[in-house]
Amino acid sequence: MFSIDPSPPPEIKLLRRELTTRYANITLVISFIVLLFIGVRAFAAPYLPRFIRRPVSLMLVVPLTFGILVLLSVLQTHDDYLFLTKRLGRISAAIMPALIFLSLKPCPIPRESYLRLMPLHIWLGRVLVVISTIHGGLYVIYFIINGKQQKIIQLNNFAGVVLTVGFVLTLFVSFYIIRHRNHDLFYRTHLLFSWACIPLIAYHARPRVWTIISLLMSFIGGQLIQRYGSGQECRAQVHQIGNMQLVCLPRKQFPKYFEPGSHVRLSPSRTNSRFWFISASHPYTIASLSTDDSTVQLVVKPTKRFKFEEDREFIVHGPYPSLSYDFFVDMYKSKKPLRRTVIVAGGAGISFAAPIANTLRKMNERVKILWSVRSKSDAMLLKIIRLDDVEVFVSADTDALEDHFLPTMELQEISSNGMLGLDRPKFANDGGFDVLEDTSDLLRKERVNLHIGRMDVETELKNFKASTNIDDGMWVISCGGRHLVSECSKWGHKLGAIVHEEIYDV
Ligand SMILES: Cc1cc2nc3c(=O)[nH]c(=O)nc-3n(C[C@H](O)[C@H](O)[C@H](O)COP(=O)(O)OP(=O)(O)OC[C@H]3O[C@@H](n4cnc5c(N)ncnc54)[C@H](O)[C@@H]3O)c2cc1C
Repeated sequence: MFSIDPSPPPEIKLLRRELTTRYANITLVISFIVLLFIGVRAFAAPYLPRFIRRPVSLMLVVPLTFGILVLLSVLQTHDDYLFLTKRLGRISAAIMPALIFLSLKPCPIPRESYLRLMPLHIWLGRVLVVISTIHGGLYVIYFIINGKQQKIIQLNNFAGVVLTVGFVLTLFVSFYIIRHRNHDLFYRTHLLFSWACIPLIAYHARPRVWTIISLLMSFIGGQLIQRYGSGQECRAQVHQIGNMQLVCLPRKQFPKYFEPGSHVRLSPSRTNSRFWFISASHPYTIASLSTDDSTVQLVVKPTKRFKFEEDREFIVHGPYPSLSYDFFVDMYKSKKPLRRTVIVAGGAGISFAAPIANTLRKMNERVKILWSVRSKSDAMLLKIIRLDDVEVFVSADTDALEDHFLPTMELQEISSNGMLGLDRPKFANDGGFDVLEDTSDLLRKERVNLHIGRMDVETELKNFKASTNIDDGMWVISCGGRHLVSECSKWGHKLGAIVHEEIYDV
């Protein structure tokens, strides 16, 4: 049981200070060893056996992290209330650099993607909120018990109160229901609070934590430079196709090579938004390949807030790779088609499926694509993003599907170079249009199989597994909404496949 000594002798105070600093330093060092381990693992992954390569489960990582931090918080506290209270505060500060590091975009660890580290960032953040809230709560109780309430509003203690309230608020806006409804609120709270943390921690922590402050300043400073210094202004050309939009960005503004399945992050330019400097950037997967044409194509499902309009300017960051490095290494290593891959896409998720499938097929891999759409007219996108041999499941407007054909008029507007015949972007290469003559052409030439009704993920994945007897490494890649993706991953795991998820949400 922890006891309170209201006036400890100087040697106890000294010991407390020494142990508090020591355990905070240990926490900082351990957190960087873990980051180093993530880096080494990302680098060595292609050479490791497959079972080691699999991402370590969060079910293991989270309790382990929590356990280690509890241990570091209670060891050598001599059953003293203040030893524990101060230690918790110091340990919260020591976790901060790793927490910020895990959210950096692009990920500074070579061959690692920030998307894969995001769950770690989220969970470490939750652990931090718990620890710092306990620290704040214990201090408040301590002041009340000792009749020193006025100390709570003493300026450097009050900075701690602000920090705790800020952590709790940031956690609150991170709950799915809030961040789903108002992503901007979630994003801005995170951004502003991460900036505010630096002066608040610097002022609140005693003795001072200059190493932690320097690390935080360099990470957040780097992020600011990346955010405000490295984006490019791009003008988008937008075309409505069915329920979706095809957004074309000038190819010349992108690097020569980017990995299939990479995404860009778009944010409003100064001319579009008064609050551009604290606006969230929105990720969109590049549906085209780096070898393609004069445009970079995005397939966008229109949403409530972030809208694409003709000729609108955006700030573009990226591209950022998404699939793990070893996915491609395996692909290039294999001489014969060893792997079977099934890609399940929901709606705009086809933007991820197309470049991956086209790359794998070029390498003679066997790839099956299952695409769930709300309307048959969405299937017209396939021609533009140059994807064929697709099983399309139309789940909504089934009445209109009776003839199983797409409207001729609309299709005639699509040219084979991926641009719309009627409304071509100015930067497009206009030559060589090959306009489809009739709708049956799309189904035949592009080998599109239309199914009416919802896709049954379990049956489709089982059928795919049964349809081939190659044993080495079945992959189930799913992209789009959370529900479909988690259903695919669940069945993928059950069937012993390697699973990759690309959820179009945070
Ligand atoms: C890696 C990745 C790739 C994506 N690729 C595509 C794509 O190719 N095509 C496509 O149509 N959509 C894609 N998305 C989803 C797209 O980024 C969001 O739909 C878009 O940002 C919604 O903006 P909004 O403010 O209008 O959303 P709202 O209408 O306010 O919200 C709709 C949903 O989008 C989520 N969302 C809002 N802002 C963001 C953001 N900045 N980052 C992540 N999620 C957000 C919200 O949590 C909510 O669930 C992708 C998402 C991710 C994470």
